[in-house]
Amino acid sequence: MSRDPRDSLNKTDARAALEAAYRHALAFDDARATRAPNAAANFDALMRAFGGPVPEAGSPADDVIEWLVAAAEPGLMGTAGPRFFGWVVGGSHPVGVAADWLTSMWGQNAGSYHGAPAGAVAEQVAAQWLIDILRLPRECSVGITSGATMSNFVCLAAARGALLRRAGWDVEADGMFGASPITVYLGCDAHASVFAALRYLGFGERRVVKIPVDAAGRMDAGALGAALADANGPLIVIAQAGHIVTGAFDAFREIAALTHARGGWLHVDGAFGLWAQACPSKARLSDGIEDADSWATDAHKWLQAPYECGCAFVRDANAHRRAMSIDASYLPTGGDEIRDPLHYAPELSRRARGFALWALLRAFGRQGIAQMIERHCALGRRMAARLAAEPGIEVLNEVELNQFAVRFGAGDEDPARRDALTLATVERIQAAGVCYVGAMRWRDREVMRVSVIAWPATEDDIDRSAESMIAAWRQTNARDDRRDAAAIG
Ligand SMILES: *Cc1c(COP(=O)(O)O)cnc(C)c1O
Repeated sequence: MSRDPRDSLNKTDARAALEAAYRHALAFDDARATRAPNAAANFDALMRAFGGPVPEAGSPADDVIEWLVAAAEPGLMGTAGPRFFGWVVGGSHPVGVAADWLTSMWGQNAGSYHGAPAGAVAEQVAAQWLIDILRLPRECSVGITSGATMSNFVCLAAARGALLRRAGWDVEADGMFGASPITVYLGCDAHASVFAALRYLGFGERRVVKIPVDAAGRMDAGALGAALADANGPLIVIAQAGHIVTGAFDAFREIAALTHARGGWLHVDGAFGLWAQACPSKARLSDGIEDADSWATDAHKWLQAPYECGCAFVRDANAHRRAMSIDASYLPTGGDEIRDPLHYAPELSRRARGFALWALLRAFGRQGIAQMIERHCALGRRMAARLAAEPGIEVLNEVELNQFAVRFGAGDEDPARRDALTLATVERIQAAGVCYVGAMRWRDREVMRVSVIAWPATEDDIDRSAESMIAAWRQTNARDDRRDAAAIG
């Protein structure tokens, strides 16, 4: 069939483009376990591959997909692979991806029930399942967001509105100027995205009270109690389920009691740690978490949903709705039983995130989720044990969940040298290309952070990765010894 030169997006091209995408996606999935965990192309190469002048004439859709794959593949990180431990990221599970393909093809505008009936109901049902699986209070309302940053934002917006309402102020109508100040208390290791959410809401990053934390990053509940004893006016306490370095959990029961005794609102950032609630053998870690008032989590981390999918749970459903509701005259509202997604998260036009979420919850089931979490925690312990057995490698925390931090050069008295050894070892590990880990500055020291969270990881991946890390450390150490010897000699 000849192509109409005025319309390069004709039907034949569209079909070929979809088939090309399907073929490439399957090839990517097949090669998942053998792909390099680090991107091969650098910035300049990617700019050359994607760059060029503005395309004046259109191009056949299938060619465009081929070009996209050729340009992108060298610049892909192995975040969906089995040996990526650098950040707390999920692995875009194929079941969620398949549902996501259809979501895109169906092109539903999922803000309202009337705009996307199936999308709204899939989301409503998935939200109820999540409340059950995560053992949160039945009365919670749920917003399906683009991630935990937005979930923190939604929950804290609800908190702000509810607390000011109790103080006789309608923040949704009258804004923040003139309202009683709300004091925000959080552990000094709170995630950067919590500070961002506070900033979006007009709290200001610096206008918070930072509570000291213990060696694993848990908020010191005694110090919180002392700080709250001096508090007056409305207050929010933000606790954490799953510290990004150590995986540690705050003492929710105690923190909730302290917060509620002062009439405060307890929010929990549980981007990945809230999933411990879904795993019977881990649930003791999150003991008392159901006493909080709101909870943020991600589905694109431990549930392995394709990006972007997060969840905000708010016990006070009215406060949640007042904070997020969008009413437009041209949008009929669902009614009593029907839930319109746009009342629970910031966006109006949006992707039907409920389809992938629903599909993943069906595919894993409650038991499958619990088994995956259990397995990742066991794999984390396995890797930490292998590393800790090597002289000169120090694992900094007990691996209760799936996260741990490592410092190289144990036994060396000079912390600056240990920093340098740690950075050099991480660089070597990345260059070796077996697995991916990153370094971060934590408590004024360089550490290597390990997060075992992507679904395809196996024991073999863990062992190969630990061997690569140990080999990198031995090389770094040997070079360092040679330098010392040269310096002395
Ligand atoms: C990942 C993470 C966030 C931010 O979540 P996004 O999905 O990246 O927006 C917040 N808190 C913690 C503890 C996290 O691990």
